[in-house]
Amino acid sequence: MSGRIPLRASWRRWAQPRRLVPLLLFFAFGIGAFCLMPSNPCGLPLHYSIGTIDPRFGIDRTEAIARAKDAQEMWEKRAGRRLLVYDESSRFKIDFIFDERQQAILDSRALDQHRADLKAIDRRTQTAASEVATKYQALKAQYESLLADFELRGAQHTAAVEYWNRRGGAPPRVFDALRQDEADLRFEGEYLESLREQANRTADGVAAIVRTGKTAVDAYNQSLTILNRQHEGPDEQAACIKDSEKRPVAIQVYEVLDEAELTRSLAHEFGHAFNVEHENDPRSIMKEVFEGDQEELEVTDASIAALKAACNPSGSADR
Ligand SMILES: [Zn+2]
Repeated sequence: MSGRIPLRASWRRWAQPRRLVPLLLFFAFGIGAFCLMPSNPCGLPLHYSIGTIDPRFGIDRTEAIARAKDAQEMWEKRAGRRLLVYDESSRFKIDFIFDERQQAILDSRALDQHRADLKAIDRRTQTAASEVATKYQALKAQYESLLADFELRGAQHTAAVEYWNRRGGAPPRVFDALRQDEADLRFEGEYLESLREQANRTADGVAAIVRTGKTAVDAYNQSLTILNRQHEGPDEQAACIKDSEKRPVAIQVYEVLDEAELTRSLAHEFGHAFNVEHENDPRSIMKEVFEGDQEELEVTDASIAALKAACNPSGSADR
């Protein structure tokens, strides 16, 4: 028995040459478009959006968008054309990823606050101690001046008593006066003793204030030691993640020191998204390490040239 499986009617329909042509064309276009994509990694203008923001960064979406647009403007102002488009539906996202880097910034802020608190405690302690010390000095001066007078009068009284004793006794009037003198001296002696005790309690108060201040400072210093612990780990503030074709997939932000620094970080990573590499120019936003005063960083002529070169590898005219 010989037999052949007949062509299915539907297949036979497609196998007709006139049907095959548009199908091949369709495939050719598809493959062509797929092959073209990697050769054009910039794909400018690049659409981007803000992805997730870890709440520990302490910034909201509106602010993140504003800073991204500032960074965008740094490039577009110099390039003189549209390079980026904020587009909520874009899959190229800027994500704020919290790790030990942002934790280090939070710790350093807490450290600054601690230092400020410490200074305030120190100031209060010194003020209180100096007020009490002044009070002590006044009491001490009062006591010493009264004591000198008291001792002089005590010596005069003793001399008078000895004088009359050598003579076998004082006349009644003198005797009464000497007894009164003696009572006055005893009373003043007691007052002087209370003054001395008051002055000494005041001196103890100064010491107590200084001790309390020292305890507070010690406690703060201990927390400083904890906060000062070294943060190990990578030190890049942000990164532009790319696929194997060097197309930007995401920007990850790891550190936000302040608004200006975030703008600079984003501008730098946008540069990487355009396939612009690091530059040695200390004024360039594309320099590898940000340090010190960064206010003046900018998109340089070299950055723009690198952007054009990266996006037009054939050297053809701008798109
Ligand atoms: Zn970089």
